[in-house]
Amino acid sequence: MAETVQFQAEVKELLNLVINSLYTHKEIFLRELISNASDAIDKAKYLSITDKSNNLAGTEWKIKIKPDKDEGTITISDNGIGLSRDEAVKSLGTIAHSGTKEFINAVKSGQIKEQPELIGQFGVGFYSAFMVADKITVISKKVGEEKGVKWESAADGTFTVDDADKENFGTDVTVTLKKDEREFLDEWRIKEIVKKYSDYIEYPITMDVEKEDKDGNKSVEEETLNSMKALWLKDKSEITENEYNEFYKHISHDFTDPLETIHFKAEGTQEFSALLYIPSHAPFDIFYKDFKFGPALYVKKVQIMDHCEELMPPYLRFIKGVVDSSDLPLNVSREILQNNRKVEVIKKNITKKVLETLKKVKENDSEKYDKFIGEFGKILKEGIHYDFSRKEEIAGLLTFHTTKTAANEKIDFDKYLENMKEEQKEIYYICGDSVDEVKNSPYLERFKDKDVEVIFFTDEIDDMIMSTLGEYKGKTLKSVLKGDISLDEEEKKETENREKELKGFLDSIKDHLKGKVKDVKISNRLKDSPACLVVDEDAMDPAMKKLLESMGQ
Ligand code: ADP
Ligand code: MG
Repeated sequence: MAETVQFQAEVKELLNLVINSLYTHKEIFLRELISNASDAIDKAKYLSITDKSNNLAGTEWKIKIKPDKDEGTITISDNGIGLSRDEAVKSLGTIAHSGTKEFINAVKSGQIKEQPELIGQFGVGFYSAFMVADKITVISKKVGEEKGVKWESAADGTFTVDDADKENFGTDVTVTLKKDEREFLDEWRIKEIVKKYSDYIEYPITMDVEKEDKDGNKSVEEETLNSMKALWLKDKSEITENEYNEFYKHISHDFTDPLETIHFKAEGTQEFSALLYIPSHAPFDIFYKDFKFGPALYVKKVQIMDHCEELMPPYLRFIKGVVDSSDLPLNVSREILQNNRKVEVIKKNITKKVLETLKKVKENDSEKYDKFIGEFGKILKEGIHYDFSRKEEIAGLLTFHTTKTAANEKIDFDKYLENMKEEQKEIYYICGDSVDEVKNSPYLERFKDKDVEVIFFTDEIDDMIMSTLGEYKGKTLKSVLKGDISLDEEEKKETENREKELKGFLDSIKDHLKGKVKDVKISNRLKDSPACLVVDEDAMDPAMKKLLESMGQ
């Protein structure tokens, strides 16, 4: 039965955008369709191992590209998992990703215009084919189903679905090219694009090509266009930067190059390979509760799951990548993963490697590191709170402005310790909404006067994080907003003497303010201002209090 369906309103808007804003990268439509075919085969291959009832074992997995010059079409076929009728309507007619609204907002605010590569973050892979298509036809049959489905759209706001005959399971996506996009029928052009973007795809991507022998006899041969080597198993020296970057885009569904690539093999008790990436920008949904993170998990080149959260601590949830273990069983389930010592060891290893890499970047490329901290510093910091064994290591990765840094300069805790005055015993910091706000705080007057450096922390969670941290390399962290602080012995005595002298005066002020304040004390924290309110040593920081109040606590 045939039916015509309206695209979800957002999809309609999205289609126009895709068609109009990605124009400089039209060729990537082929990468996106190949990437989907490869994902579909991953799923079928996994089924073939875990469920013997479907006779998938022994399938020769393959992606085939068929250009047709007479019809002006290019077809990408796979023998992957396929789509049921319902799935075709759902997957191809709506935006599955939760970011639709954010995406539309990003477009409206002009962000996308300036950075068209952002579009890739929103999962528009399939729709990118509308950049070059007058019409897209998908014919698919899902593994285990009797009937096939035909989905078709000319990007006019509607699509049609109908039953279809298809012999084998899998999917054929046929793109009817616009008149001036015929270059994508060219054998040469197709080969070039596959090599450039999809060389590492694990399944053969083939095409029938005409060959001529020396006697002029013509014949058609099926040629494999990609080298197919699982990139993470290759030797580092054999991999170009472009290959690393393209692979990143394939697994992350991002259109931007990563900030940093981490590729290593672990040998010994746990054998595994990991190819991990630090993206160059945070996805819009990284602070959402249901944000999916963790590398894809492979066991001997077979993909077991997309996101293995058991392999990555949440404070490194921005890391994308692949982990391939040769020690885990192929039918490993979520339950097994959750209490598996091998998994625990891999996670530990990965965490260590990522933190080491960050340290290296911090030491060698401050521009890159600033970018990293800007995008992900807030998330990394969570580790100080949640990963007790590594809190000092993570704290060592933080960079910040202080009362003494230049506007474009940041230092870390080690540098702070180095700068400390001989008689200084503690590390001082102030929390607030922004550097501009805190730098003029009256609480800093005395520190400036005594030439003692104070760190500026401006993330909402900083007060909580610094309380958990408590100390760094044996030096106590102290908020200048809280409790009593004596910068040296002399100062301490002076205060005590003055307190005795002025006891009567203080008591009478206390009387006046009864019920409004807890205590009235002589303070040496001020230089120019006559008086200030301070928070008790063990009380909450004002910024934290504001935050909790705003959350309804
Ligand atoms: P993404 O790949 O990021 O999920 P796409 O827009 O590229 O987003 O694809 C949307 C969805 O359509 C996929 O998630 C998948 O469910 C389905 N799909 C696309 N191409 C295929 C295919 N060749 N075989 C099976 N399903 C497919
Ligand atoms: Mg895709």
